[in-house]
Amino acid sequence: MGVFELIAIGNELLIGKTLNTNIHWISGEITRLGGFVRRATVVRDELGEISVAVGEAMQRKSDWIITTGGLGPTFDDMTLEGVAIALKRKLVLDRKALEYLKISYERAKKQGLVKSYELTEARRKMIMLPDHSKALPNSVGTAPGVLTKERNCTIVCLPGVPAEMKAIMKESVLPEISKAIGPNYFCEGTLLVSKVIESILAPFIKGAMKNNPKAYIKSHPKGIIDGASRIELSITTTAPSKKAAEKIVNDALDEMQKAVLKLGGFVLKREID
Ligand code: ATP
Ligand code: MG
Repeated sequence: MGVFELIAIGNELLIGKTLNTNIHWISGEITRLGGFVRRATVVRDELGEISVAVGEAMQRKSDWIITTGGLGPTFDDMTLEGVAIALKRKLVLDRKALEYLKISYERAKKQGLVKSYELTEARRKMIMLPDHSKALPNSVGTAPGVLTKERNCTIVCLPGVPAEMKAIMKESVLPEISKAIGPNYFCEGTLLVSKVIESILAPFIKGAMKNNPKAYIKSHPKGIIDGASRIELSITTTAPSKKAAEKIVNDALDEMQKAVLKLGGFVLKREID
């Protein structure tokens, strides 16, 4: 139901020009809804790279594949062509996408960003969707998002511009994801500790995870602060109710707190949210 793979598309991400904030944001949103992000891939603006990445994510039986980038009018925007190849579908002019594109250009005209909005070849490219897809309105920019299903997998294509990606996610995609996942709560607890080192804590983390099998415990070393090593312990879980999720996290927090104190360390902060 809730296994996700994300694919970020764009050369700028792989030449160190643009920081991949889209994957960071999408992962957080999906996790908070109780979804499981299994993998994120970054590929160049190359047709073969895009279609192979989508095909492989489908072979791994992902429930959802979300791509960002490459929906625009320029030659290097080829996400929909790549997805069409992976799905063995044709690209067809989508009426709804055309409607959304007109609304977007009307808005851009009012804002003085464009003078007119004839359907030029470059603009037409943004509304050629893989056959049997659903266009998603873009309330910030121009290129519509795309949602399509193939067997049990839902594939969503979003623009690369973060504000556009977020708008489409919030307006059209997150509500669908929430519905598909059902009631599910993600909970994270943190324990900020000092005067203990990771290698000493390691067996206690393992033990606490064994005793609390639904909790995932990860240590994040923060370096040496005020002459003592500082570590943030993050304890996460997903459960059908808020109460159940909080109990799992609290039990594991209790156990880790005890371990840290027993080892002569300090607990600087304990939080749950
Ligand atoms: P548009 O329709 O606006 O052209 P697009 O889907 O074609 O959108 P891209 O051309 O791939 O998007 O990217 C547009 C810009 O968005 C990039 O120049 C980059 O600054 C930003 N961007 C792209 N991908 C990401 C990402 N993963 N994280 C953060 N920013 C990104
Ligand atoms: Mg572009």
